[in-house]
Amino acid sequence: MASFTKTEIQEATGASVAVSGEKTLFSGVETDTRVIGRDALFVALKGERFDGHDFVGKAVQQGAAGVIVSEMRDEYREYGIAVFVADDTLKAYQALARFHRRRFSIPVVAVTGSVGKTSTRNMIASVLSQKYDVLQTEKNFNNEIGLPRTLLQLTERHEACVVEMGMRGLGQIAELAAIAEPTIGVVTNVGKSHIELLGSQENIAKAKSELVLALDEKGTAVLNADDSFVAPMAALCRGSVLTYGTEAGDDIWAEQIAVSEQGVTFTCHCGSDVFAAQIPAISRHHAYNGLAAAAVGCLTGLSAEEIRRGLAAYKGVPMREELISLAPYTFINDAYNANPASMRAAIRSLGALTTGRKIAVLGGMLELGDWAREEHEAIGREIASSGIDVLITMGELAGYIACAAREGGMKQVYTAATHDECAACLKELLQPGDTVLLKGSRGFAMEKILSYFERKS
Ligand code: ATP
Ligand code: MG
Repeated sequence: MASFTKTEIQEATGASVAVSGEKTLFSGVETDTRVIGRDALFVALKGERFDGHDFVGKAVQQGAAGVIVSEMRDEYREYGIAVFVADDTLKAYQALARFHRRRFSIPVVAVTGSVGKTSTRNMIASVLSQKYDVLQTEKNFNNEIGLPRTLLQLTERHEACVVEMGMRGLGQIAELAAIAEPTIGVVTNVGKSHIELLGSQENIAKAKSELVLALDEKGTAVLNADDSFVAPMAALCRGSVLTYGTEAGDDIWAEQIAVSEQGVTFTCHCGSDVFAAQIPAISRHHAYNGLAAAAVGCLTGLSAEEIRRGLAAYKGVPMREELISLAPYTFINDAYNANPASMRAAIRSLGALTTGRKIAVLGGMLELGDWAREEHEAIGREIASSGIDVLITMGELAGYIACAAREGGMKQVYTAATHDECAACLKELLQPGDTVLLKGSRGFAMEKILSYFERKS
């Protein structure tokens, strides 16, 4: 837990001391009174809905020994805690995070890009964990509050840190990079998300390139050479550059990428090392995330075997394209939620698998209002021509998927009303080597089907 003396707080943030308080050492910095611990420093942030200044009393009750505020209120004098006043409490919070980060000379890896930040970050952490004790961004805490929060978790035991950086406009990645001072910057790709805010893909590229610009001479940019917006960022880097992609000219590259019930497999060329990589995931783009992780592994002194093990140990987000092997069957648990776009993506991933029979077990998609029937029917038509062999639907809504799939010429289509019926139908049909996709809106809890197949131990 990050600890600060009174002097360090003043030095890091430039805040003045309005009330001296009893304690001189503060352990842990929090912005949320619900998680505050004894002797912590509470930073009163102003959000859209809440103002931390209203929660100082609560923070004191929870054990806070000090607080950073931007507005002094009379009641703060009565609490017996130290009160620091800063112009901007968010900036003070970030400054504390930077101060704390500078206490550690370990690799700090920052990941940005339009998509795949969290997946790549997880993959990098999985690889680095083979050799190091790794701190990584929790959940999706990738913004101006989440990033400092992560850095403030650094302790003596950590040997590497992997953070995610998101953005909604120009200048934001530069700000985040100035807090984290990364030693390695990874840019995954430049797509069109947030284009309404940034105007053009060129501007999005410019925003992502702020990470590369922030690296110093000792830093390394890890760049996706297959992305035409990312590759040119090499020219902006003051330090070294490592490229990854699918061409023999890239520093780290993949050939023979395949997706099967084994997951994503490819031959990974990592400098002079060549090894067979396998990632337990079902989308081809995970090969790219794996290459980025291999590049970071190379840079931080991992052996090819450690990188290989780290990729094989990758765990995605539970219930999101989660590959589960229940020999002789394979399940893809994507039951966290479903909307038309994610349903299509899952169907395409299943349809693209290269081995075994493919079975889709689908619940409905909720919250589609007047479009519900139409959208389910469109999914049904898509399944009919997707390469999927068997469809089982559960419930009335998903029944529209089944009807349209039958109309589209699909032969093996079954409908069920409950999880029990659905599982019974699947049991009857399953053959060794089959891969089963479970997906539907949260309300349908399609992951329950798994419990009928998991061995009781
Ligand atoms: P956010 O901006 O919400 O934090 P993110 O950049 O962290 O998103 P992920 O959560 O990793 O992205 O992935 C979002 C979606 O993109 C998932 O469906 C995932 O399977 C897919 N995805 C992951 N990696 C890639 C990639 N390299 N290229 C394209 N799509 C990807
Ligand atoms: Mg993310």
